[in-house]
This record gives sequence, C-alpha cells and structure tokens, in this order.
Amino acid sequence: MQKTNLKALSKDKIKEFVKAQGLPDYRAKQLIHWIYEKQAESMENITELSKELRKKLSDVAYISNLKLLNKQESGDGTEKFLFGLEDGESIESVLIPDDKRLTLCISSQVGCAMRCGFCLTGRIGFKRNLKAYEIVDQIIAVMKITGQGTRVRGHGITNIVFMGMGEPLLNFDEVVEALHRITEFIGFSKRRITLSTCGIAPRIIELYKKAPHVNLAISLNASNDSVRDRFMPINKKYPIKALLDECRKIKLAYKRLITFEYVIIDGMNDKNSDAKNLVRILKGIPSKINLIPFNPYEGSDFKKPSDDRVIEFQDILVKAGISAFIRKSKGQDILGACGQLKAGYKTKD
Ligand code: SAH
Repeated sequence: MQKTNLKALSKDKIKEFVKAQGLPDYRAKQLIHWIYEKQAESMENITELSKELRKKLSDVAYISNLKLLNKQESGDGTEKFLFGLEDGESIESVLIPDDKRLTLCISSQVGCAMRCGFCLTGRIGFKRNLKAYEIVDQIIAVMKITGQGTRVRGHGITNIVFMGMGEPLLNFDEVVEALHRITEFIGFSKRRITLSTCGIAPRIIELYKKAPHVNLAISLNASNDSVRDRFMPINKKYPIKALLDECRKIKLAYKRLITFEYVIIDGMNDKNSDAKNLVRILKGIPSKINLIPFNPYEGSDFKKPSDDRVIEFQDILVKAGISAFIRKSKGQDILGACGQLKAGYKTKD
C-alpha cells in the first residue's frame, strides 16, 4: 500500500486520516502544529506523540520534504534556493533582505507557459503545476534552512510574494489552497502575502472571492496593446482594457492598493508618452506602480534602461499623483532577480 503524504493533505483530509487511524480528533490539530509550525521533517520528529504511535503512523504515512539541491548567496544578501521535487523536477525560491523586510519569493509552477519575451522562466516553457504542499513547502524549507521563523514569532520572513517561477492564476485551486495553509497552518499574516499575475483577467475576481485579503500585483509592463502584445502573448487573449476592467470590479479593503508592475525595457516601453499613457489608463483604480528596470541575462534580446530614463519615467508618474517606486534589483549576480529564475536541474532521468 502506498503511504499517505501528510503534507499533501488539506485540513479536512487530515481529519479524515486521523479518524481512519482510530485516533481522537485533537490529533489532527497536533499533526498540523508539528508539521507546519514546528517544521517536523519526519514522523520521528513529532516527539509529542508516543514512540508506539509514531511507529504506527510511520507504517501508513510520511512527511515529504523539498530537497535542497543548491543554495547561492548574492553579494547583497539575497539567497537563491534550488529545490528538488519528488518527481525529479526542480524549482527556485529567493529570499530577499531589504531594510526591515525579509521577503520570500516563491514559485507556483515548474516553468511557465506564458512566454513573456523578457522573462527567463518563460524560455524553459511549462513543465507542470505545483501541488499546494510543494508551494507551501518552499516556505517551510527556507524557514528551516535559514533558522528563520515567520514574523508571527517575532523575527524572520516578513513578506511572501508569488513572483517566482510560474503563473499562479493558471494553477488556481492549488494556489488558493496554498494561501489557506500559509495563513491558517503556518500563521502568516494574509496582508503580507502578494500574488503577482501576468493578467489572467477572469481569475482576478475569483481570487478575491476565495482569498480576499491577499495583495494583488499585476504585471502590466506596457500602457498600450501594441507594445504589450509584443512581449506578453497573454495580452492577445486578455488585452489591457479587459484586464483593467476586472481590476475596477474589485472592492479593495480600506487603504489597500493594487500594485502594477512595470518592467522598463530600453527603447520598448520607456518613453515619456508611455508614462503619460499609464497615468491615463490607471485612472480610477486605487493603485501604486513598481518600476522594475529590466534585469538582463545571457541571450536576452532586451536591454536595461539608463538610470536617468527610469527616474524621468518615475517623475512623470509621481507628478501625476501616482505612487511609483523604483525597485532595486537584488540578487542579479546569482540570477536571482525578478524574471531571472530558471531551474534547469533534474535529479532523475
Ligand atoms: N507570472 C507572474 C509571476 C512571475 S514574474 C507574473 O507575471 O506576474 C514576476 C515579475 O517579474 C513580473 O512582474 C515580471 O514582469 C517581472 N519580470 C520578469 N522578467 C523580468 C526581467 N528579466 N527583468 C525584470 N523583471 C522581470
């Protein structure tokens, strides 16, 4: 008989499992506590259970763990982790320290099907969706490796962003389940989680229904369709107007904003007229803009804009009353910055 992976179970399924083993209900809560908060890597680690019970459970169940295949540290303190999955595929997660924040950037798919022209992950194409537990396990593994807890316990990771490999809204159910486990099982604050999408328009409202407090970031990257079409194929399916119409439907909580990400690429979308257009199309949406100077990598067709260009672009937005921030690129020397993730490693084959 195949053993049950306890990490792969939702709350209801853990309750069912406990019942099927003839154990009282409170054992479900206990297992969740030990797996997610105490980060038990095996049944043996759950020392609150008697030796006999651990043995009994080990006969029918196990706790899976991501395998750390590689870890790189950038000169600026950014750390990139390459994790192996049970089927031999691999994914990357990045831990980014910045002033008072420690942000963990996690992946939602192996590879990505979106093929955005400026993104390295897009080049490897789509391999498969991650399961909810594989998404959540990136957080548990990083907490364990770095000895960091979550902020709940006073230190450690302060923010979680779905900005690693993959398009989270195309792995909708598993991502929503992961969001629930991150907040309910790990105890992470909903308000400190951001999901970034290339703009799967119809799923945006769905996400708000299922996970209302999660911050939304939209990778807009252009202010008109002809430019966006050139490097984001998804724009042909969900053009800018359709996307922004969906954003307008969201009833944001008090003081909440939608973040628009704008990768500035030299000579592509960096003109003053682009900035002015951006101001115009975002009217009426409570928003802020993160400007991300394109992060180059070997073989890319695009170029990074000059610092002056980026500052002038920002200036136009700010003068029009929009909060616009220039995102410092961290971890570039280890290909750990935005859009540079590409886990090519295979453990099996
Ligand atoms: N699929 C999701 C999340 C992954 S991409 C999305 O599209 O939002 C995360 C962010 O990195 C996006 O805003 C994307 O526009 C940006 N990005 C991708 N490649 C980049 C690059 N080479 N330089 C700078 N930012 C990049």
